[in-house]
Amino acid sequence: MSAPNLTREQAIARAATVSVENYRIELDLTGQPTDPAAAAGETFFSRSTVTFSATPGAETFVDIVAAGVRSAEPSLARAAGGALLPREASVDPREVCAALLASVEVRAEPRPEAEARVVATGAALPPPWTALVSGVRGEIVRLRSDDPPCRTVRGWVGGEPVYLVPRGDGRVVLGATSEAHEAAPVVTAGGVLRLLAAARTLWPALDRAELVETTARDRPASADGLPLVGPSGVDGVVLAAGHYRHGVLLAPLTARLVADHLENGAVEPTLDPRRFAGPPQGAR
Ligand SMILES: Cc1cc2nc3c(=O)[nH]c(=O)nc-3n(C[C@H](O)[C@H](O)[C@H](O)COP(=O)(O)OP(=O)(O)OC[C@H]3O[C@@H](n4cnc5c(N)ncnc54)[C@H](O)[C@@H]3O)c2cc1C
Repeated sequence: MSAPNLTREQAIARAATVSVENYRIELDLTGQPTDPAAAAGETFFSRSTVTFSATPGAETFVDIVAAGVRSAEPSLARAAGGALLPREASVDPREVCAALLASVEVRAEPRPEAEARVVATGAALPPPWTALVSGVRGEIVRLRSDDPPCRTVRGWVGGEPVYLVPRGDGRVVLGATSEAHEAAPVVTAGGVLRLLAAARTLWPALDRAELVETTARDRPASADGLPLVGPSGVDGVVLAAGHYRHGVLLAPLTARLVADHLENGAVEPTLDPRRFAGPPQGAR
């Protein structure tokens, strides 16, 4: 990159002192003939206006690196700017689930002698908790490419957020749409079209990639967007649900909270499922 990026520590310090109200970014897509890089179609002239308030006396700066984006991620097309997060990581949730399943005993029916049950059925909670979680459909596309990105790439294309996650062996996950709905989640032509169009603008190698799979799943969302982890209002039943967009990321924390609750009754108040109107109707 042509300039050092914000470090994680600097970002944390800045977040504590600055409150951004809006970003206004003006792009000149016609190119600037006097600038060889612009004339070659590699960069655009842009003007960014950031409106923010800050703690009096605090110092900050705006981190925008345009020309260096492609040197950090050669698979990308033109980009108006970017930030490199060298410590960002990802896991393949399918591999995580396979590893977990391989390490536990799976039974079709619960043990009759069990002292507690943990309900963790995603967006389909059984009564009386059904209404605590609703589905927000997310569609993703899986591809295989001989020119995948080196790292996770998150972008905005035409107002549309899109991310590309390399999974190794040329596999690339492209996501994700987001739409609240009532029916079962299905892959839609419009969702796939929007994802492919946005990703192709960022990543030209998409045209040569093999289309491997399209998937639609429900993200389980609670009314306040926070998970429901802890006592359900029914004796002996614990909820671990409502993780919305972050269920994979939060899985270790949820496991810890459930284990703590089962062992010693600890409850994290922010996530207590009973915050929604106490014991649910119909609970016995
Ligand atoms: C497109 C997309 C992208 C996402 N990206 C991310 C991400 O980058 N990072 C992240 O952390 N999270 C991400 N998420 C969210 C994450 O997938 C969810 O938060 C997480 O899967 C929720 O976990 P869960 O165990 O509560 O529910 P689920 O993963 O839905 O699992 C529930 C399980 O319960 C089973 N089940 C349902 N009913 C019953 C029943 N009656 N009896 C027995 N079993 C039942 C289901 O078959 C399912 O296997 C994404 C989600 C989507 C859709």
